[in-house]
Amino acid sequence: MLQKSHPISVTRTTKSHFNDVDWNNLPFGKVFSDHMLVMEYADGKWLDAEIIPFGNLSLHPATSAIHYGQSIFEGMKANRSVNGDILIFRPDMNAQRFKESCERMCMPEIPEDLFIELVRKTVEVDADWVPSNEGESLYIRPFMFATDEFVGIRPSETYKFIIFTCPVGAYYSEPVNVKIEEFYTRAAIGGVGRAKTAGNYGASLFPAKQGQLKGFHQLVWTDGKEHKYIEESGTMNIVFVIDGVLITPSEDADTILRGVTKRSVLEIAEKWGIPIEERKVSVEEIITAAKNGTLQDAFGAGTAATIASIAKIGYRDEVLELPPLETREISKKIKNYLDDIKSGKTDDVFGWCLKV
Ligand SMILES: *Cc1c(COP(=O)(O)O)cnc(C)c1O
Repeated sequence: MLQKSHPISVTRTTKSHFNDVDWNNLPFGKVFSDHMLVMEYADGKWLDAEIIPFGNLSLHPATSAIHYGQSIFEGMKANRSVNGDILIFRPDMNAQRFKESCERMCMPEIPEDLFIELVRKTVEVDADWVPSNEGESLYIRPFMFATDEFVGIRPSETYKFIIFTCPVGAYYSEPVNVKIEEFYTRAAIGGVGRAKTAGNYGASLFPAKQGQLKGFHQLVWTDGKEHKYIEESGTMNIVFVIDGVLITPSEDADTILRGVTKRSVLEIAEKWGIPIEERKVSVEEIITAAKNGTLQDAFGAGTAATIASIAKIGYRDEVLELPPLETREISKKIKNYLDDIKSGKTDDVFGWCLKV
């Protein structure tokens, strides 16, 4: 039915660059598969989607997204399962979040079932590009931007939706050192922090650079009002383990990006009977727990790394060291289990993976 109302035409490339890729050395986000999907919005509706050879876009200099920032994206992965299938991890969650980003940014929504079908078809066309070594995957980047050729601030009337994919290597995240940020703000109450919109990342670069100059990989963002409550870590959600309890900032405020990885971590933990608290998490309580030894673990959760352990937390003039990685049983177990679901090594009891 979907196919009928939204046909997807496929024009295959005549010069694949598959053999130009160094498959034993895949960097993140620098290698692009042979095709991309493009779908345009005009006259109040989405036109037919086309899958075409990957290539440059030609844009009018007044293209409104470039000037006024109506630009949103998603990030997700497909994995080659142990028996050769291709599994996309929880695309329904990305479809829903994309819809929410559209709404917040006054952009036209894409029905969730259509979004999922467009992603599936894009991956299917470049199925050969889904790598099969342990830990490798196909990163999927759907995005949408405003294309009105017009100097003036109002919601654009035309848009482009594109999906491209990148084969990526195993992401070994070294444990990161983070700094609790008490001046700069990632997201304000009433702002766009909950949307995956381009400007949020542009705005984070300068504060992140200041942190890097002091030797920290990432910032831990705190609330914009008082800088007393923890929100996220870099471009990942953040989770703590104190006395065996998983603690993470609640998403009630619209300042936190609703991550698929964090949600999955919590759903697994819940199933395993690990106590969870989603609530306001104060900087003070984390610092106290780090000092008295009850902070057992802290990690970022996001699609790229799945789980990025935090080694040290910088707070004002202090640097607090967290327990050694070998002791971080809960996060290690959850990460391994998630990896096993994504690669089909264990039963997908949650029904998370979409087979292409
Ligand atoms: C994308 C993103 C995350 C992580 O979301 P996942 O769905 O787990 O990849 C967390 N925080 C921010 C700010 C993000 O942009």
